[in-house]
Amino acid sequence: MTFVFSPHEIPSVEVAGQTARFPVRRIYCVGRNYAAHAREMGRDPDREPPFFFTKPADAVVPNGASVPYPPQTRNLHHEIELVIAIGKGGKDIPLDQAHDHIFGYAVGNDLTRRDLQLAARDKGRPWDTGKAFDHSAPITAIHKAEEVGHPDHGRIWLSVNDEIRQDADLKELIWDVQEVVSILSGLFKLEPGDLIFTGTPAGVGPVKPGDLIEGGIDGLANLSTRIAE
Ligand code: MN
Repeated sequence: MTFVFSPHEIPSVEVAGQTARFPVRRIYCVGRNYAAHAREMGRDPDREPPFFFTKPADAVVPNGASVPYPPQTRNLHHEIELVIAIGKGGKDIPLDQAHDHIFGYAVGNDLTRRDLQLAARDKGRPWDTGKAFDHSAPITAIHKAEEVGHPDHGRIWLSVNDEIRQDADLKELIWDVQEVVSILSGLFKLEPGDLIFTGTPAGVGPVKPGDLIEGGIDGLANLSTRIAE
């Protein structure tokens, strides 16, 4: 096969403890998956079915890298999240088989142009400009489930310039890892290389050029991202 220009590089994420990388196919994200965050966004945290949005695969940013402050926003927000990395594809995956499809887990930051997202939301428009921009998905190395297990509890936190902004526990997820995989696989056939950002706890807020964003999940990984000057 030939192409009219060189194909783009396959986006990928480091895998902890080895040199081979995880090739990213798609990035799915769960909206409002912690009750306190749903409330801070002005929404009812009742257990209505989860909803999903996406980011482009090439939005991933490696741990420790700087990201430019994105254009056309005055309100760039951090959202620390547990990320599921799919290793085995499937559709209509039963709850009790969901774990079998998971390669591992990472910590991610669902960077959000909040002003654009809310303007879109309030007009019934898509969220892409608020969520799916370049460099909007900083993420740590993926830790294999065979080494770290399947986290269902543990502190999830984020600080900006050493000030704690988000501090919660994975136990507070409205839809847990198995439910997210099972429900999402009823909407899209999952494939190896898919990432799923599982939603952020309360405490989201703005960052500005020069800020250092650090966050993590106990027992998994820590993520460090600088917003470039
Ligand atoms: Mn999010």
